[in-house]
Amino acid sequence: MTIADRLAAIRADLPAGVTLVAVSKTQPPEAIREAYAAGQRDFGENYAQEWRAKADALADLPGLRWHFIGGLQTNKAKYLAGRVALVHAVDREELAAELSRRFGQKGATARVLLEVNVGGEASKEGCPPDRVEALAAAVRALPSIELAGLMCIPPPEDDPRPHFRALRALRDRLGLRELSMGMSADWRIAVEEGATLVRVGSAIFGARPPHGARGGAGPATAS
Ligand SMILES: *Cc1c(COP(=O)(O)O)cnc(C)c1O
Repeated sequence: MTIADRLAAIRADLPAGVTLVAVSKTQPPEAIREAYAAGQRDFGENYAQEWRAKADALADLPGLRWHFIGGLQTNKAKYLAGRVALVHAVDREELAAELSRRFGQKGATARVLLEVNVGGEASKEGCPPDRVEALAAAVRALPSIELAGLMCIPPPEDDPRPHFRALRALRDRLGLRELSMGMSADWRIAVEEGATLVRVGSAIFGARPPHGARGGAGPATAS
């Protein structure tokens, strides 16, 4: 199956109103071009440096929208300013403040989601559920940022459905619109539970080269 075939198969099952974000981390620019040629416009990347190289290499593609879906060091927020359509994984006020500042400097507004640590694992990224309301209030008070919704990555060993349901309830309570949830293995469940954005990588592009792999198409350097 080609990338175009896999995209078509997913789109056939995706309800209207749900945005398919093609997760292209560690994939070469040519794979993104192939997906773009098949009509895909939203792409998700995780590593700031790798993404910047690819964004430059693909600057000729009109209408391509970048989603930054990975954890982000505060000092890298400046690279995203004015270039990323949606930042999916804001999990602390310091990062939100820096995104607001840097997008504001470019006359732009940062559109963001809060990543919620639905699994409650100490080691993982994401804002603890009991602190999301306070974080949302802090983000809403910043000048150049729009809080659009919530995002989660359930623990891989769990049944994702209760986590998706909990995220939706939290989203409803906060009066937000977007719900970024579901990956290759569980996007159908996420859609059933109300996802407005699904982040699908390997089911579109096939197996992923490791992050920082050498000898491939260049941009997959460490970031
Ligand atoms: C890599 C990644 C995905 C896509 O994972 P697949 O299992 O390949 O679909 C989705 N979301 C985030 C945050 C990721 O890091």
